[in-house]
Amino acid sequence: MAHIACSLCEAICGLEVQTNANSVVSIHGDPKDPLSRGHLCPKALALQDIHEGDRLRTPIRKTPTGWTEISWTEAFDHTVDHLAKIRKLHGPNAIAVYQGNPTVHSLGALTHGTSFLNLLNTRNRFSATSVDQLPHQLVASLMFGHQFKLPIPDIDRTDHFLIIGANPMVSNGSMMTVPDFANRRKELRTRAGRMIVIDPRRTETAKIADEHHFIRPGTDAALLLAMIGVILENTKGYDEIRPLAVPVDWAEGVTGLTGIRRLAQEFADADRAVCYGRTGVSTRRHGLVCQWAIQVLNIITGNFDRPGGALFAKPAVDLIRITGKGERDRWRSTVRGLPEFAGELPVSTLAEEPEIRAMVVSAGNPVLSTPDGPRVEQVLQKLDFMVAIDPWINETTRHADIILPPTTALERDHYDLIFHALAVRNTARFSPAVFPKPSSRRCSPTTRAARTPWPR
Ligand code: SF4
Repeated sequence: MAHIACSLCEAICGLEVQTNANSVVSIHGDPKDPLSRGHLCPKALALQDIHEGDRLRTPIRKTPTGWTEISWTEAFDHTVDHLAKIRKLHGPNAIAVYQGNPTVHSLGALTHGTSFLNLLNTRNRFSATSVDQLPHQLVASLMFGHQFKLPIPDIDRTDHFLIIGANPMVSNGSMMTVPDFANRRKELRTRAGRMIVIDPRRTETAKIADEHHFIRPGTDAALLLAMIGVILENTKGYDEIRPLAVPVDWAEGVTGLTGIRRLAQEFADADRAVCYGRTGVSTRRHGLVCQWAIQVLNIITGNFDRPGGALFAKPAVDLIRITGKGERDRWRSTVRGLPEFAGELPVSTLAEEPEIRAMVVSAGNPVLSTPDGPRVEQVLQKLDFMVAIDPWINETTRHADIILPPTTALERDHYDLIFHALAVRNTARFSPAVFPKPSSRRCSPTTRAARTPWPR
């Protein structure tokens, strides 16, 4: 029996994996894991599907007659030769990089990917961040001094949990690693706590809330600024924030939500309260204002940095010390002049950057997942060269010249560098590889590529 953390999503559930030779017999939640407490979701079974399924196991190269299997040496040599040539002819920004979500669930990609990116030294770097959690990171950088100084709701001790635009019953938390959410919600109710959900949709989380309030999509900033105004009526200080509050009547007209004054007062009156908002508020036009206002609500009610409120995690590996604090606007996109953040341009500019001649796509499928995917696909079709690190031929990687398949999560050691820093409890879990890595595989192709002499 192997005991590992699931690396398929932010919840990092502890798993018990029963094996027989090189195959998986069963996957169960690990009841002894102090964070996930036996929880798992149906996705965990995909670890077996990925490991035993019809994935790529050796590098492949596109030829006029179709895909051909090649050796790792040939794959790396071919890739480096092409990237070096394009870089020499057109400069470093001619090579773009797209990193998909699984990158943050791979220890090797995180520890060695940076070296590879530094070698490329391109300004055309993209990921899913700018269509996901960027407002959280920017607010953390502006308010607390570091993009990963992210306050986490203390769900296990709060009395009043206000959730705006998030569905942790399905997601098991995002920017809040909270496996076993359903039972944690029951425990909140058992201690007479309340959960209030604001969402335009009757989500799975809304269905089990004490109150669910529908809101007009994209108007959460008005709600939050009105709540701040109500709370500041009876709170001293915060003179710089006070002028930013909006009248309750106006906010109710904008949001379509009645009872904002009561919502604010109950939040302020609770012994221990915390407000949390996720993609429903952070991927909107006023996402930055919303994430800022959520933290302001926690602060002005005395619920910041205290048990039952919003707390900073204390991970064994301190992200703050090993990552940049969130530098921004050191360069801009060519066409729309949008600023970079932490070395990345908004992914919505990927299809319009004129310098791009080659791409490195790592664990991502931007043709499906980015805005205007068909336009991204047109760009990929015209590239001089593309290499993808992926175990599948998909909508994006089918445009690659070379595909480098990584090991599966069951074939490599893992320690989660990111999500312990976002977890509702402080834990640490090292996951040894369940199966030995076959000699023909590479743990993280970026590792090998980073060692390849460069430039040629
Ligand atoms: S919730 Fe996430 S971490 Fe937990 S088992 Fe499902 S996919 Fe894995």
